[in-house]
Amino acid sequence: MSYTKNLIQEVIGKTPGESEFHQAMTEVFSALAPVVDNEPKYQEAGILKKMSIPERAIVFRVPWLDDKNQVQVNTAYRVQFSSAIGPYKGGMRFHPSVNLSVLKFLGFEQVFKNSLTGLPIGGGKGGADFDPKGKSDAEVMRFCQSLMTELCKYLGPDEDVPAGDIGVGAREVGYMYGQYKRIVGRYEGILTGKGLTYGGSLGRTEATGYGLLYLMDNILKGAKNGFDGKKCSISGSGNVAIFAAEKTYQLGGIPITMSDSGGFVHDPDGLDLDLMKDLKLNRRERISEYAKARPSAKYTEGTGLWNVPCDIALPCATQNELHEADAKALAANGCIAVGEGANMPCTAEAVDVFLEKGIFFAPGKAANAGGVAVSCLEMSQNSMRLSWTFEEVDNKLQDIMAGIYQKMSAAAEEYNMKGNFVAGANIAGFKKVAEAMLAQGVV
Ligand code: NDP
Repeated sequence: MSYTKNLIQEVIGKTPGESEFHQAMTEVFSALAPVVDNEPKYQEAGILKKMSIPERAIVFRVPWLDDKNQVQVNTAYRVQFSSAIGPYKGGMRFHPSVNLSVLKFLGFEQVFKNSLTGLPIGGGKGGADFDPKGKSDAEVMRFCQSLMTELCKYLGPDEDVPAGDIGVGAREVGYMYGQYKRIVGRYEGILTGKGLTYGGSLGRTEATGYGLLYLMDNILKGAKNGFDGKKCSISGSGNVAIFAAEKTYQLGGIPITMSDSGGFVHDPDGLDLDLMKDLKLNRRERISEYAKARPSAKYTEGTGLWNVPCDIALPCATQNELHEADAKALAANGCIAVGEGANMPCTAEAVDVFLEKGIFFAPGKAANAGGVAVSCLEMSQNSMRLSWTFEEVDNKLQDIMAGIYQKMSAAAEEYNMKGNFVAGANIAGFKKVAEAMLAQGVV
């Protein structure tokens, strides 16, 4: 058995029950086989083995009082995966499905994603099994304050800088930042995704969705194609999905679907984005309300979004939301490109279908890297005590996404896998981190 196959089996054996982490690790290590199996220096220095274990993972309890003065207790985590190329960087997720496996998969992916951006940031991820849905503002605030009372011990502008993710938007970041400042007494950039009045960056809210479209545009243009007139199916209706839809319109495409955990809407001539933003960003409503307010749209409860015919599919909700049967349906309906706005939304079997059918497929670590890239730009602005304009940030974002496209294309070609962006993104992301680890010795 090859070195990488052996190692994958060893890691799976030592981390029972961590299925999401196994899935991500298997994808990355399998893609790295042509590099690592033939390069003794990586094996001799134990690079992959070190990469499979976080530098540090913190698990802690978060007790808080609900509005009825009842004590509630959640479990929170911060997985600090790699600081080889910079301080740990990666979001916080608040969702009932959060556990160590989910956060290890996200932190592991983050290492390679952050490397691909070309910026000096390591990888980490955190979160809690807390569900902000249905909680009052005061409850969310008390939870965030209690969480930060413990987490603040492990953060610092040069140590670990979390951001938002599922269930963590501007409100949650604000409450966590306020508590950090209250405890440590310093005004420093230990969180990104902050509000514009206290150190946030213009363009951060839009960055992941816009970045996804910039990357897909590079891919399509590389094939002498573009977004003009293309119907795009988007899943999710959170931060990433909404700004992916906005940039789809700006590039001449037509977003026709969006979803939440209850179901999806299909609006065949194009979504009304103002209505969607008002419902989801301002009023925090369920997506079924969209169809009630918009006669051209149809609401379907549950799954089935990927059966809607489209030219381009952009899964932007959560991990493992697009399965093999969905991939086959997309292919049968003439879909030409898929870009992962979410982290690992496509199962391994679905990705195989896309690659077999010659559908352009951009993996999350490349496609959604715009968010962390602009988070890093927020860190730079905080350190310099400066605020850049929206255009400055957006131009940098476009350059970064074009750079990611070039890096993953070149790496795929170098290993004779032209057009395989899964292999290309993993190899390009890996090499920078691996070289930094080699240079820093056995630590
Ligand atoms: P939000 O919390 O803003 O939105 C998440 C969306 O996905 C909501 O519509 C939510 O519906 C839906 N969703 C969440 N969990 C499930 C589920 N189990 N089943 C079906 N639908 C679900 O999160 P973001 O938009 O920030 O993040 C979306 C994805 O993008 C995640 O994978 C995240 O890791 C990734 N990402 C985010 C970045 C960012 O900058 N925000 C950066 C890079 C990646 P509901 O409201 O019903 O739960």
